[in-house]
Amino acid sequence: MTPRPALSLSSGEKRGSDDDSVTTASMAARKGRIALVGSGPGDPGLLTTSALEAITTADLVLCDKLVPKAVLDLIPEHIETYIAKKFPGNAEAAQQELLNMGLAGANAGKYVVRLKQGDPYVFGRGAEEYIFFKEHGYRCSVIPGITSALAAPLLAAISPTHRQVADQVLICTGTGRNGAAPVMPEYVETRTTVFLMALHRLADVVCWLREAGWSMSVPCAIIERASCPDQRVIRSTLEHITEAFETLGSMPPGLLVTGNTCIVMETVPEGERWTVEEGYSLFL
Ligand code: SAH
Repeated sequence: MTPRPALSLSSGEKRGSDDDSVTTASMAARKGRIALVGSGPGDPGLLTTSALEAITTADLVLCDKLVPKAVLDLIPEHIETYIAKKFPGNAEAAQQELLNMGLAGANAGKYVVRLKQGDPYVFGRGAEEYIFFKEHGYRCSVIPGITSALAAPLLAAISPTHRQVADQVLICTGTGRNGAAPVMPEYVETRTTVFLMALHRLADVVCWLREAGWSMSVPCAIIERASCPDQRVIRSTLEHITEAFETLGSMPPGLLVTGNTCIVMETVPEGERWTVEEGYSLFL
Protein backbone atom coordinates (compact mmCIF):
# COMPACT_ATOMS: atom_id res chain seq x y z
CA MET A 1 0.00 0.00 0.00
CA THR A 2 1.32 3.43 -0.80
CA PRO A 3 0.89 6.09 1.83
CA ARG A 4 -1.86 8.48 0.93
CA PRO A 5 -0.72 12.12 1.07
CA ALA A 6 -2.10 13.93 4.08
CA LEU A 7 -4.30 16.96 3.55
CA SER A 8 -1.67 19.61 3.12
CA LEU A 9 -1.29 23.06 1.74
CA SER A 10 0.19 23.15 -1.71
CA SER A 11 2.64 25.87 -2.71
CA GLY A 12 1.30 29.36 -2.29
CA GLU A 13 -2.09 28.15 -1.11
CA LYS A 14 -3.49 29.34 2.17
CA ARG A 15 -6.71 27.90 3.55
CA GLY A 16 -9.01 29.48 6.04
CA SER A 17 -9.63 33.07 6.94
CA ASP A 18 -7.11 35.90 6.79
CA ASP A 19 -6.36 35.69 10.49
CA ASP A 20 -5.58 31.99 10.13
CA SER A 21 -2.39 31.41 12.08
CA VAL A 22 -1.30 28.50 9.92
CA THR A 23 0.84 29.88 7.16
CA THR A 24 2.17 28.09 4.15
CA ALA A 25 5.68 28.87 5.34
CA SER A 26 5.17 27.32 8.77
CA MET A 27 3.62 24.24 7.19
CA ALA A 28 6.46 23.87 4.70
CA ALA A 29 9.05 24.06 7.49
CA ARG A 30 7.83 20.74 8.92
CA LYS A 31 8.30 17.35 7.42
CA GLY A 32 5.87 15.23 9.40
CA ARG A 33 2.13 14.89 9.10
CA ILE A 34 -0.72 13.94 11.36
CA ALA A 35 -3.96 12.04 10.79
CA LEU A 36 -6.88 11.69 13.18
CA VAL A 37 -8.26 8.26 12.40
CA GLY A 38 -11.50 6.61 13.51
CA SER A 39 -11.12 2.94 14.40
CA GLY A 40 -14.82 2.01 14.36
CA PRO A 41 -16.62 0.35 17.27
CA GLY A 42 -14.28 -2.59 17.82
CA ASP A 43 -14.40 -5.28 15.14
CA PRO A 44 -11.36 -4.83 12.85
CA GLY A 45 -13.72 -5.66 9.98
CA LEU A 46 -15.40 -2.32 10.63
CA LEU A 47 -12.25 -0.27 10.05
CA THR A 48 -12.32 1.68 6.81
CA THR A 49 -9.68 0.78 4.24
CA SER A 50 -8.26 4.27 4.75
CA ALA A 51 -7.92 3.66 8.48
CA LEU A 52 -6.21 0.34 7.83
CA GLU A 53 -3.84 2.01 5.42
CA ALA A 54 -3.07 4.71 7.98
CA ILE A 55 -2.24 2.32 10.82
CA THR A 56 -0.09 0.14 8.60
CA THR A 57 1.94 2.97 7.06
CA ALA A 58 2.35 5.30 10.06
CA ASP A 59 5.63 5.88 11.87
CA LEU A 60 3.90 6.47 15.18
CA VAL A 61 0.40 5.40 16.29
CA LEU A 62 -1.09 7.08 19.35
CA CYS A 63 -4.16 5.16 20.53
CA ASP A 64 -7.11 5.80 22.74
CA LYS A 65 -7.44 3.37 25.61
CA LEU A 66 -10.81 2.18 24.23
CA VAL A 67 -9.36 0.89 20.95
CA PRO A 68 -9.67 -2.90 21.31
CA LYS A 69 -6.79 -5.37 21.03
CA ALA A 70 -8.10 -6.89 17.80
CA VAL A 71 -7.58 -3.52 16.10
CA LEU A 72 -4.24 -2.89 17.80
CA ASP A 73 -3.09 -6.29 16.54
CA LEU A 74 -3.32 -4.98 12.97
CA ILE A 75 -0.57 -2.43 13.60
CA PRO A 76 2.68 -3.94 12.32
CA GLU A 77 5.17 -4.64 15.09
CA HIS A 78 7.82 -2.30 13.73
CA ILE A 79 5.50 0.72 14.08
CA GLU A 80 5.97 2.63 17.29
CA THR A 81 2.66 2.45 19.18
CA TYR A 82 1.57 4.15 22.34
CA ILE A 83 -1.71 3.62 24.22
CA ALA A 84 -3.16 6.44 26.31
CA LYS A 85 -3.03 5.95 30.04
CA LYS A 86 -6.47 7.45 30.54
CA PHE A 87 -8.19 6.65 33.79
CA PRO A 88 -10.59 8.69 35.93
CA GLY A 89 -8.79 11.76 37.25
CA ASN A 90 -5.99 11.47 34.73
CA ALA A 91 -7.84 12.12 31.48
CA GLU A 92 -6.56 15.65 30.95
CA ALA A 93 -2.91 14.79 31.63
CA ALA A 94 -3.12 11.71 29.41
CA GLN A 95 -4.73 13.71 26.61
CA GLN A 96 -2.05 16.40 26.81
CA GLU A 97 0.64 13.75 26.83
CA LEU A 98 -0.73 12.27 23.60
CA LEU A 99 -0.92 15.69 21.96
CA ASN A 100 2.66 16.46 22.95
CA MET A 101 3.85 13.11 21.66
CA GLY A 102 2.02 13.66 18.39
CA LEU A 103 3.55 17.08 17.96
CA ALA A 104 7.04 15.86 18.83
CA GLY A 105 6.65 13.02 16.34
CA ALA A 106 5.48 15.30 13.54
CA ASN A 107 8.26 17.78 14.31
CA ALA A 108 10.69 14.89 13.97
CA GLY A 109 9.32 14.22 10.49
CA LYS A 110 7.10 11.28 11.37
CA TYR A 111 3.72 10.29 10.01
CA VAL A 112 1.67 10.37 13.21
CA VAL A 113 -1.68 8.58 13.43
CA ARG A 114 -4.00 9.44 16.30
CA LEU A 115 -6.20 6.36 16.42
CA LYS A 116 -9.52 7.08 18.05
CA GLN A 117 -12.36 4.78 19.00
CA GLY A 118 -15.43 5.02 16.77
CA ASP A 119 -15.54 8.31 14.93
CA PRO A 120 -13.02 11.00 15.91
CA TYR A 121 -15.64 13.73 16.14
CA VAL A 122 -18.35 11.94 18.14
CA PHE A 123 -17.43 12.58 21.77
CA GLY A 124 -13.86 11.90 20.73
CA ARG A 125 -12.22 15.27 21.38
CA GLY A 126 -11.14 15.13 17.74
CA ALA A 127 -11.88 18.78 17.09
CA GLU A 128 -9.76 19.82 20.09
CA GLU A 129 -6.89 17.83 18.65
CA TYR A 130 -7.38 19.31 15.20
CA ILE A 131 -7.22 22.80 16.70
CA PHE A 132 -4.18 21.98 18.83
CA PHE A 133 -2.20 20.66 15.89
CA LYS A 134 -3.36 23.51 13.67
CA GLU A 135 -2.12 26.01 16.24
CA HIS A 136 1.22 24.23 16.08
CA GLY A 137 1.43 24.37 12.32
CA TYR A 138 -0.15 21.11 11.20
CA ARG A 139 -3.44 20.68 9.46
CA CYS A 140 -4.51 17.11 10.22
CA SER A 141 -6.19 14.83 7.80
CA VAL A 142 -9.23 13.24 9.41
CA ILE A 143 -10.50 9.78 8.54
CA PRO A 144 -14.06 9.13 9.69
CA GLY A 145 -14.87 5.99 11.63
CA ILE A 146 -18.08 4.08 12.20
CA THR A 147 -19.42 5.50 15.42
CA SER A 148 -20.62 3.18 18.16
CA ALA A 149 -23.60 5.52 18.53
CA LEU A 150 -25.05 4.20 15.27
CA ALA A 151 -23.32 0.84 14.89
CA ALA A 152 -24.28 -0.50 18.32
CA PRO A 153 -28.05 -0.07 17.81
CA LEU A 154 -27.75 -1.63 14.35
CA LEU A 155 -25.91 -4.64 15.77
CA ALA A 156 -28.69 -5.00 18.34
CA ALA A 157 -31.43 -5.02 15.69
CA ILE A 158 -32.46 -1.46 16.53
CA SER A 159 -32.83 0.92 13.61
CA PRO A 160 -32.24 4.49 14.84
CA THR A 161 -34.74 5.78 12.29
CA HIS A 162 -37.77 3.80 11.23
CA ARG A 163 -40.69 4.97 9.17
CA GLN A 164 -43.65 6.06 11.31
CA VAL A 165 -41.74 5.26 14.51
CA ALA A 166 -38.59 7.38 14.68
CA ASP A 167 -37.85 10.30 12.40
CA GLN A 168 -35.01 11.81 14.42
CA VAL A 169 -31.92 10.65 16.28
CA LEU A 170 -30.13 12.37 19.12
CA ILE A 171 -26.68 11.39 20.32
CA CYS A 172 -25.85 12.73 23.74
CA THR A 173 -23.80 12.02 26.84
CA GLY A 174 -24.64 10.91 30.35
CA THR A 175 -21.50 12.59 31.66
CA GLY A 176 -21.55 16.32 32.28
CA ARG A 177 -18.55 18.58 32.70
CA ASN A 178 -16.56 17.78 35.84
CA GLY A 179 -19.04 15.12 36.87
CA ALA A 180 -22.03 17.48 36.93
CA ALA A 181 -25.40 16.33 35.61
CA PRO A 182 -25.69 17.05 31.89
CA VAL A 183 -28.76 18.82 30.53
CA MET A 184 -31.18 16.01 29.76
CA PRO A 185 -33.03 16.12 26.44
CA GLU A 186 -36.80 16.40 26.41
CA TYR A 187 -38.79 13.31 25.47
CA VAL A 188 -39.92 13.25 21.85
CA GLU A 189 -42.06 10.28 20.92
CA THR A 190 -40.58 9.88 17.44
CA ARG A 191 -36.98 10.30 18.52
CA THR A 192 -34.30 7.71 19.16
CA THR A 193 -31.90 8.98 21.81
CA VAL A 194 -28.48 7.40 22.25
CA PHE A 195 -26.56 8.09 25.45
CA LEU A 196 -22.81 7.53 25.42
CA MET A 197 -20.73 7.54 28.60
CA ALA A 198 -23.89 6.98 30.62
CA LEU A 199 -23.73 3.50 32.10
CA HIS A 200 -21.40 4.18 35.02
CA ARG A 201 -24.21 6.37 36.40
CA LEU A 202 -27.22 4.70 34.85
CA ALA A 203 -29.42 5.08 37.94
CA ASP A 204 -28.77 8.84 37.88
CA VAL A 205 -29.43 9.09 34.15
CA VAL A 206 -32.78 7.32 34.49
CA CYS A 207 -33.66 9.54 37.44
CA TRP A 208 -32.77 12.70 35.48
CA LEU A 209 -34.89 11.48 32.58
CA ARG A 210 -37.84 10.95 34.90
CA GLU A 211 -37.37 14.46 36.24
CA ALA A 212 -37.27 15.73 32.65
CA GLY A 213 -40.72 14.22 32.07
CA TRP A 214 -39.87 10.90 30.44
CA SER A 215 -42.25 8.00 31.02
CA MET A 216 -40.63 4.99 32.64
CA SER A 217 -42.39 2.77 30.08
CA VAL A 218 -40.11 4.04 27.28
CA PRO A 219 -38.43 1.03 25.64
CA CYS A 220 -34.64 0.99 25.82
CA ALA A 221 -31.59 -1.19 25.39
CA ILE A 222 -28.06 -1.29 26.70
CA ILE A 223 -25.50 -2.41 24.15
CA GLU A 224 -22.06 -3.23 25.48
CA ARG A 225 -18.86 -4.07 23.62
CA ALA A 226 -20.74 -3.68 20.34
CA SER A 227 -19.05 -5.59 17.51
CA CYS A 228 -16.71 -7.43 19.91
CA PRO A 229 -17.04 -11.22 20.35
CA ASP A 230 -18.48 -10.67 23.84
CA GLN A 231 -21.09 -8.11 22.74
CA ARG A 232 -24.10 -8.02 25.04
CA VAL A 233 -27.55 -6.53 24.54
CA ILE A 234 -30.01 -5.94 27.39
CA ARG A 235 -33.52 -4.97 26.31
CA SER A 236 -35.96 -3.50 28.78
CA THR A 237 -37.80 -0.29 29.66
CA LEU A 238 -36.50 2.68 31.61
CA GLU A 239 -38.38 1.30 34.60
CA HIS A 240 -36.36 -1.92 34.80
CA ILE A 241 -33.12 -1.17 32.97
CA THR A 242 -31.17 -0.12 36.07
CA GLU A 243 -32.16 -3.24 37.98
CA ALA A 244 -31.23 -5.38 34.97
CA PHE A 245 -27.86 -3.71 34.63
CA GLU A 246 -27.08 -3.95 38.32
CA THR A 247 -28.09 -7.60 38.35
CA LEU A 248 -25.99 -8.50 35.32
CA GLY A 249 -22.95 -6.30 36.02
CA SER A 250 -21.29 -3.98 33.54
CA MET A 251 -19.06 -4.85 30.57
CA PRO A 252 -17.69 -1.54 29.29
CA PRO A 253 -17.76 0.17 26.94
CA GLY A 254 -21.49 0.35 26.52
CA LEU A 255 -24.27 2.74 25.67
CA LEU A 256 -27.98 3.25 26.29
CA VAL A 257 -30.45 3.66 23.45
CA THR A 258 -34.02 4.73 24.08
CA GLY A 259 -37.17 5.10 22.02
CA ASN A 260 -39.99 3.19 20.41
CA THR A 261 -37.71 1.87 17.69
CA CYS A 262 -36.17 -0.39 20.35
CA ILE A 263 -39.18 -2.70 20.09
CA VAL A 264 -39.70 -2.75 16.33
CA MET A 265 -37.49 -5.68 15.34
CA GLU A 266 -36.99 -7.45 18.68
CA THR A 267 -39.11 -7.28 21.80
CA VAL A 268 -39.12 -8.26 25.44
CA PRO A 269 -41.64 -11.11 25.83
CA GLU A 270 -44.79 -10.28 27.73
CA GLY A 271 -44.33 -10.76 31.49
CA GLU A 272 -40.53 -10.42 31.42
CA ARG A 273 -38.71 -7.34 32.66
CA TRP A 274 -35.67 -7.67 30.46
CA THR A 275 -33.86 -9.95 28.03
CA VAL A 276 -30.16 -10.52 27.47
CA GLU A 277 -28.41 -11.55 24.26
CA GLU A 278 -24.72 -12.32 24.08
CA GLY A 279 -22.30 -12.65 21.21
CA TYR A 280 -21.59 -10.98 17.90
CA SER A 281 -20.90 -12.16 14.42
CA LEU A 282 -20.83 -9.99 11.33
CA PHE A 283 -21.38 -12.98 9.06
CA LEU A 284 -23.91 -15.44 10.43
N1 SAH B 1 -15.85 8.36 19.40
C1 SAH B 1 -16.54 7.22 19.93
C2 SAH B 1 -17.23 7.55 21.24
C3 SAH B 1 -16.26 7.95 22.33
S1 SAH B 1 -17.06 8.26 23.86
C4 SAH B 1 -17.52 6.69 18.89
O1 SAH B 1 -17.78 7.37 17.90
O2 SAH B 1 -18.01 5.58 19.07
C5 SAH B 1 -16.92 6.68 24.64
C6 SAH B 1 -18.26 6.02 24.71
O3 SAH B 1 -18.58 5.41 23.47
C7 SAH B 1 -18.34 4.89 25.70
O4 SAH B 1 -18.57 5.37 27.01
C8 SAH B 1 -19.54 4.13 25.19
O5 SAH B 1 -20.74 4.77 25.57
C9 SAH B 1 -19.40 4.29 23.69
N2 SAH B 1 -18.76 3.14 23.04
C10 SAH B 1 -17.57 3.12 22.42
N3 SAH B 1 -17.34 1.92 21.88
C11 SAH B 1 -18.42 1.16 22.13
C12 SAH B 1 -18.79 -0.18 21.81
N4 SAH B 1 -18.00 -0.97 21.11
N5 SAH B 1 -20.00 -0.61 22.25
C13 SAH B 1 -20.83 0.19 22.94
N6 SAH B 1 -20.53 1.45 23.26
C14 SAH B 1 -19.34 1.94 22.87
